[in-house]
Formats: sequence, structure tokens, C-alpha cells
Amino acid sequence: MSFESLGLSAPVLQAVADKGYTTPTPIQEKAIPIVLMGRDVLGCAQTGTGKTASFVLPMIDILAEGRAKMRMPRSLILEPTRELAAQVAENFEIYGKNHKLNMALLIGGVSFDDQERALEKGADVLIATPGRLLDHFERGKVLLNDVKVLVIDEADRMLDMGFIPDVERIVGLLSPMRQTLFFSATMPPEIKRLADRFLSNPREVTVAPPASAGKNIVQGLAVMPEADKREALRRLIKDQDIKNAIVFCNRKKDVAILQGSLKKHGFNAGALHGDMSQPARMETLEKFKQGEIQILVASDVAARGLDIVDMSHVFNFDVPFSPEDYVHRIGRTGRAGKTGHSFTLASPDEGGLIDAIEKLIGTTIPRVEIPGMEATAFEASDGRRRGRGRGRGAGGRGGDRGRERGERPPREPRPEREPRAEQEARPEREARPEREPRPEREARPERAPRPEAEKRAERPHREPRAEGRPPRERRSERPSRPDRRDRDDSPAPVGLGDHVPAFLARPSR
Ligand code: AMP
Repeated sequence: MSFESLGLSAPVLQAVADKGYTTPTPIQEKAIPIVLMGRDVLGCAQTGTGKTASFVLPMIDILAEGRAKMRMPRSLILEPTRELAAQVAENFEIYGKNHKLNMALLIGGVSFDDQERALEKGADVLIATPGRLLDHFERGKVLLNDVKVLVIDEADRMLDMGFIPDVERIVGLLSPMRQTLFFSATMPPEIKRLADRFLSNPREVTVAPPASAGKNIVQGLAVMPEADKREALRRLIKDQDIKNAIVFCNRKKDVAILQGSLKKHGFNAGALHGDMSQPARMETLEKFKQGEIQILVASDVAARGLDIVDMSHVFNFDVPFSPEDYVHRIGRTGRAGKTGHSFTLASPDEGGLIDAIEKLIGTTIPRVEIPGMEATAFEASDGRRRGRGRGRGAGGRGGDRGRERGERPPREPRPEREPRAEQEARPEREARPEREPRPEREARPERAPRPEAEKRAERPHREPRAEGRPPRERRSERPSRPDRRDRDDSPAPVGLGDHVPAFLARPSR
């Protein structure tokens, strides 16, 4: 099937041809004609399938006629992460280059001002993360009643990240007279229930994952003591023909440490994790996309769903705690029909995690040797594994693993790791302190302070305390914490200072 047969306009087809696409992907083939008909779509597809173009291309044609009013966007695309939202915005620019559609991108971590200006101009397309969109709404900067097309993208990730209440609130602000396109990589019951509520007589479109693990990704696994991993990674990077690579760590602090170490050894490495400011994240990502950074050390939260065209390698410096994350991570390579490579560095006690991954992907990850390094085996967790010592087991593709699947459950997550939802939701939450006070709040400080006596007179009369119960310390009477005293510029204590002698604290009869 060709793009021409899908019903798209000539300017959109031209933009697609300029981008170099010749054939629609299965999701594009199925979804585009339905969207152009004005029907709701329930799409079961994940990133890497060409899903973005499957809604962006027909939306451009739907929105081609008409103009957006000030602060009243005509369409809304909700994305779970800032990076995904920015990626969709890039797609709009590429595919919409032959149209004059105004776009506004509302994501956290960056200034409100530019976003407000874009809203004031009138946005034909509004691309947003839920938290930042609600911030703008609450400040009265955007009205959603004119939205005619709504896209909820990556719904299952929204659920993971705890954004569903925000999404529900946003959908409640929209007119029911709209077209809704709802995409999710998986359809657990909660997501199906949401889809049933948001969609009206939808057409269901399901496509297979883009590259099931192992299809066009050459995987490798090496087992070594934790302390050898940095050396092993450097050797692997030198040994492989790397165009660009992501190195995944499980913890944010390790991302920074590993990046520093790689740089010290002369590698062109950048870092990406959830504790970085949004401008720094965007800048690093852009440099990586442009090839200015060759190796990106990243945490899962920062790298989810990223579409880096033609990425040659993925390294798991740590084995991910969740097997799904493994599939997610290695899926950053081997995209759009290209062959990718992934290497996982496991420590001897991570056999259980690897078991769980191999069970999920239905295959054994081939063991590889790292040039110049001694191979190690997974630790035996009980008698059945005894006898597999150092020097065996890491060599040979798909070699003898000497352990049964499921023999040991995956190790408990390490304590310092944040729970998943927290980890991912943080970027949006981080943005909140930035929120400027709302107009009515701004007015408050102007109110003249009420005299203390007047306030006291209004306080309800307190019953005398029961006998024998010590009086509760008032805040000012509590001993201040040493760290607070260190930091404060408070004057020296007057009278007894913070110390209240016991006889004064005793209740009076
Ligand atoms: P997505 O699933 O939207 O993240 O897209 C995954 C990758 O496939 C992106 O790099 C797109 O540029 C690319 N892509 C999308 N549609 C096509 C197509 N019809 N032919 C080739 N590549 C495509």
C-alpha cells in the first residue's frame, strides 16, 4: 500500500515524501483513513511503530481549514513526558511544513512566558504534558472548549506515572463534540475502562510491537564483578563499531558518576536523568541527536520513548529491575528496520533478574566475552547452582547457563531506588514550584495584618487540660533543631531562650 491511497492531501504527501518515507507502516495504513473519516480510534501500538505519524498526518489535513482563536486551541495532544511531547512537536513541524498551522508546546521545566505567548497567538495544535496544561488552565491562560480533536498518547504510561486523574480532569473540560484518538502500548483493564469512557464508538486498531526483542537487535550478556563494569564498558565501546549509544544505569547518581568516568577516559559522553533541569535535558538530547554527543549515559525515566534515528548500540550498565524495562531499553536501537546491538553487563548476583528477562523475551540472551577480561558466572543461590565458579559460563553464544529458569525470583529492588511511579511522575511535579502565584493569591499580601488581639478574641475557648497531662509545647517553645539554628540569622535568645525548665512545664492545678 502507498501513502497516496490513504486519502491524505498533496501537501502532506509531499512532506512525507521529503522525509523519505515510501510505504506507510501498518498502524499508519490502518489508522489514517479512519482518522480522516472523523471516527474515534482506539489504537494498541507502541513507539517505534510509526504511531506518531498515524495521528499527526491526518490531523494536519483535518486542521488545514480554519483558524484558532486566542487561547482556544483546536486540537490537543497529551503526552506523558516532556521528551515525548517535544518529539511529537518536531513531527508536527516536519509533516506540517507545507501548512500554516500554529503549534504550542506546553511542558514543565521551562518558562511559562513563551508558552503563554504561543497560546495567545491561537494554537491549532496544542501538545502538552497533563501537569503543565492544568497549570496554564488554572492561571486562566487556556480554554479547552474549542478542542475538536483530542489525542491521548501512551495511555498506559500515563497510568504508570499517576497522571490519569489529571487526564480525566482535562477530558472533563473538553466538549463532548470532538474526535478522540487514544493510543496505548498495552490495554490493561484500567486503560480499557478509560477508553470506554473517553471514546465514542471507536474503531480498534492493533499492531504488533515494532521489534520484539531479538528480531533486529543483536543482544549480548556478560557477567562480571560490579567493580569490573567500567573497564568492561570501555573495552566494549572500543571494540564495537559505535555510531551512537545509550548506556542505561538504574540510578540517577550512577549516571553522573559513569558519565564523569567515561569523559575522564576520553569518551564523548553526556548524561541524561530526571534530576537535571529541563533546558539541560533538552540541550543534551539535542546534542545527542545531532551527533555532538556520541554516548549518552541515562536513567530509564529520561530515556523512555525517545526516538533517536539509527542508534547503533544500547548498553545496560545495570540489569534493569523490571524485565519490561529491558525490552524498553534495548528497543531504543534496531528501530525502523535497522539492525541494532545491545550489551548487558550483569554482576554475579543478578542471575535472577536475567532469568526474569529471558522468561519475558522467550529466549536466552547470548553470553559474550569481553576482550581481555576474565569471564565470570552467576552466583549459585543454593545447592543446585554450586560448582559454577569463575572462569566458566560467559563464553560462547547461548552457552550452557547451568541454571533453571525461575529457580530464583528476581532480586528485590534496592532500597535507594525510587518507586517507579514516583520516579517518572517527578519531572512534571518538579515543575510546580515554578508555578507563579495565581492572581487571587497575589492579592493577599496587600491585606492589612489584623491586630493580634482581635485574632485572639476570635479563637474558641479551650477547655482546661486534663490533670496530669503535660501541656503541649507551642511551636516557639520547642527546642529548635541544631541545623536550623546553624542556618538562621535569628537573634541571640532572650531570657531562658529555647530551654524551658521542667518546673515551668508542669501543669498548674
Ligand atoms: P514512532 O513510532 O512514531 O515513534 O516512529 C518511529 C520511527 O519510525 C520514527 O523515527 C519515524 O520517523 C519512523 N517512521 C514513521 N513512519 C515511517 C514510515 N512510513 N517509513 C519509515 N519510517 C517511518
